[in-house]
Amino acid sequence: MNMNKNLLNLNKTSKKYQYYAVFGLLFSLLLSSCSAKEVKDVSYKSISISAENTELLRNESLKINLLLDNKATSNTKDITCISSDPTIASIINYKIYGLNTGTVKIACTTSDLVSNVLDIKIIDKTVTIDDPTTETPTEPTDPTNPTDPVTPTDPTDPVIPTEPTTPGNLLVVSYIDVGQGDSILIQTPNGKTILLDAGPSTYQGRVSDYLDQEGISKIDVLIASHPHADHIGGMSYIINNYEIGSIYMPKAVSTTKTYETLLETIKSNGLTINTAKAGITINIDKSIEIKIIAPTSSSYSDLNQYSAVIKITYNKVSYLFMGDAGWTSEDEILSSGVNIKADVLKVGHHGSATSSTQEFLDEVLPTYAVICVGEDNTYGHPTEQTLDRLDFTGADVYRTDQDGTVVISTNGQTITIE
Ligand SMILES: [Zn+2]
Repeated sequence: MNMNKNLLNLNKTSKKYQYYAVFGLLFSLLLSSCSAKEVKDVSYKSISISAENTELLRNESLKINLLLDNKATSNTKDITCISSDPTIASIINYKIYGLNTGTVKIACTTSDLVSNVLDIKIIDKTVTIDDPTTETPTEPTDPTNPTDPVTPTDPTDPVIPTEPTTPGNLLVVSYIDVGQGDSILIQTPNGKTILLDAGPSTYQGRVSDYLDQEGISKIDVLIASHPHADHIGGMSYIINNYEIGSIYMPKAVSTTKTYETLLETIKSNGLTINTAKAGITINIDKSIEIKIIAPTSSSYSDLNQYSAVIKITYNKVSYLFMGDAGWTSEDEILSSGVNIKADVLKVGHHGSATSSTQEFLDEVLPTYAVICVGEDNTYGHPTEQTLDRLDFTGADVYRTDQDGTVVISTNGQTITIE
């Protein structure tokens, strides 16, 4: 079943040219109204959305109809409110797939029923190209769609300058199956190597086997997201057996033997630690941007909140890596205003309920989510709540306990999953 899922997604994603643009449109509907209302014609292919029944309480639903080039499609959708919390109930995410000719996917967010105003934002569109090898993808432009005054833009997060890239220059991200822990290998388009966490010590052989299989003898950037053993347990072995360029770690204090051994190993190998904290940019490959966006504070009571949260952008495709950050860090990231929209999300803290708030997921809006987690772990990860929220957000979820090592590659335009 999992294999089928993988094949399905591989098939689906390899044919897609994805781009992300943020459009917003506000509309108001009277609570008493139950008739279909046209929301707005938006941009590419003249998609229209209609909504019915605007007061969403538990078990009630919102109806969305799509028109493509002013023609009705079969994409009528009833969204049912599943929450009893009226605040959460007011936030709905919906992604629409499989439009006529497979040309457009859009995602909608509705919110703000508290003030009896329904807010729908068109936040995500996908254009499918039949044969990407013969057709040059061009980003559809929409002169009729002015800059959306509703959607905040982040002045600290400028548009990524497009580097000329050759086909085949891939950013390859491998979420290595290390049981209950994280170890993520990132191979950049220009051949640099980043290892984000090294799993628990019991799986250090799994990490080194993977590196060897990929023909890697040098780690250009080694990052310890935070000092917990399921992330740094295998790191001393990596440092002792591979050439290391630079090391990044958050300034967190831990007195565990594993952490002390790691610090001694770093020192004995003549390496120094660069502090991982919000605002740092790692420059190792000019074709991609690597930004550390958390931790934003210098002191937390919970070690997980120190997690280095990293966003990597290659042309039009972004990845977000959460480490074990929980809602405390997520809230700080949201407050910082940094752009966290990402196509691929490494879900925080193995899918724990205390990470991945709906508010946070609503901003990231991942198409794909990866949970690094061990089979039958004693923590109950990933929790049903987190899986529900990811489902609600519309993300396709991959899990290392079920799918093994997950590899998600991009040429900066399209995403391929193995
Ligand atoms: Zn962990």
